[in-house]
Amino acid sequence: MVQRALRENTAAFAESGRGTIPITGFSCWALGYLDEGYKQVGCLLHPARNEGVDLRYRVDYGDKCQRESCPEAQIFLKLGLEERRFWLYLVRDLDAFSYSSRKANPLFGLMGWGAGLLGRVASGEAGRSLTKERFFRDYPFFSTRLNPRANAYLINECVKRNGVHPLKTIAFRERFEAISAWLGKDLLRRVRERAGAPYTHLLGLDALFLDFLRLSVGLQRVDPEEALALKGRVDRVLLGFQPPDSYG
Ligand code: SF4
Repeated sequence: MVQRALRENTAAFAESGRGTIPITGFSCWALGYLDEGYKQVGCLLHPARNEGVDLRYRVDYGDKCQRESCPEAQIFLKLGLEERRFWLYLVRDLDAFSYSSRKANPLFGLMGWGAGLLGRVASGEAGRSLTKERFFRDYPFFSTRLNPRANAYLINECVKRNGVHPLKTIAFRERFEAISAWLGKDLLRRVRERAGAPYTHLLGLDALFLDFLRLSVGLQRVDPEEALALKGRVDRVLLGFQPPDSYG
């Protein structure tokens, strides 16, 4: 059904001229197949397809098409070109539909770990390309069930100090999962919640740390001084990151 609509869009596109045609219904008339083999789906008006000329104005969405991008795409764009190539290699066999699927495409989850960590992993491989299977075998850390965005601050701080090598062991993953759970509970015990405190995501602190407070500790609102004190606590604990029974 979807494939048929995409083929129809693609076939009708050549006849659509250069004028504005507002979108009606549930999908955009400019979404179609980019290749003759009908494998790659994308925007037929995108500048990458039109020798640099952005024709997306034609759907009459104002600047919405140029402006909107998902959080994962924004993280991906922070990576260097070689780093992007490394991560894209993992999903090179996916067709357009699987590539767009959060379930089938592991990059959606992986991007949640943040550009810093992903860049370090890619650079550490120094030009080597890994298949998806090989990557998850070499880096068992990334098979964790932890929420990446909720834990990106913790792991990025660990990797800044220790490099990416620990990500290659199951023992480290288990220690990390333990410290993450312990820290979440520890901070919740320490925080003094105040009705009317600013929203956590609006504070001027490290965005990954704010994600940790919101998604791991569960603090939707917190005073800036309180958040700073919590960050100090987390950073001190991470400095001495050891097996979980060392904490208390
Ligand atoms: S980017 Fe805009 S013009 Fe292109 S397919 Fe999506 S909605 Fe349509």
